[in-house]
Amino acid sequence: MKKIIVFNWKMNLPILSERSEVIKSSTQPFSQKGRGGVEIVICPPFTHIEKVKNLLPSKIKLGAQNCFWENSGAYTGEISPIMLKNLGVEYVIIGHSERRKYLGETDEMINKKVLAGLKAGLKVILCVGEPERDLKKAKNYVKKQLEEDFGGIENLKFKIENLIVAYEPVWAISTNKNSRPDTPENALEMIRFIKQILNSKFHIPNPRVLYGGSVDGKNIKNFIKYEEIDGVLVGGASLKIEEVKKIWKMKF
Ligand code: PEP
Repeated sequence: MKKIIVFNWKMNLPILSERSEVIKSSTQPFSQKGRGGVEIVICPPFTHIEKVKNLLPSKIKLGAQNCFWENSGAYTGEISPIMLKNLGVEYVIIGHSERRKYLGETDEMINKKVLAGLKAGLKVILCVGEPERDLKKAKNYVKKQLEEDFGGIENLKFKIENLIVAYEPVWAISTNKNSRPDTPENALEMIRFIKQILNSKFHIPNPRVLYGGSVDGKNIKNFIKYEEIDGVLVGGASLKIEEVKKIWKMKF
């Protein structure tokens, strides 16, 4: 299966023009050869989705940074999975640590979003990850997140390939104080662990699991070179033109 690189723009680029350097550099890879082995997903803020869709080549997939758990109704300010589908969005990030922290999203809420996203036929990227660096505690923490966030998926019909996990240790996310990327070896160990749980607990044979946390043009290869690391989620570096260009030049 193809590796996936997800670019999460977060709440940045309040004004986006078609001359934007980010848009121009994001278009670059598909004017080059040999880019078929990787799936690129761009997750702009909701208000930019339509514009980005019109500016980027269709090979680049669109993702959203969140969605609600109902498809319509009196839920002021929310965006539903079906609305995203109708916009041409294929992927949705759910349970990002910033939403858990600033918006108070609980595992119960995240679970409902995961189920609703899968039901709508979106490719759900569930973010999990421990707040502090400690491999033993991390495993218990992430196991609990997976068990709660995926609760009930066994009763749901969905395409297995639509379920993706991003292992994002919170301490490794670049906007956090004293952040640094996880070592590729630790990330690999955690990703193997996550795959084991998905397999044994939820009977998902070959789940795709990405790594996220301070990935840039320099260190991306160290993660992606492992067969079991199915891709990366890139935050801060996705808006740094030089980093994006370095990533484009890479062979996967
Ligand atoms: C993120 O917030 O999901 C993320 C991976 O950010 P960064 O790449 O900036 O650490």
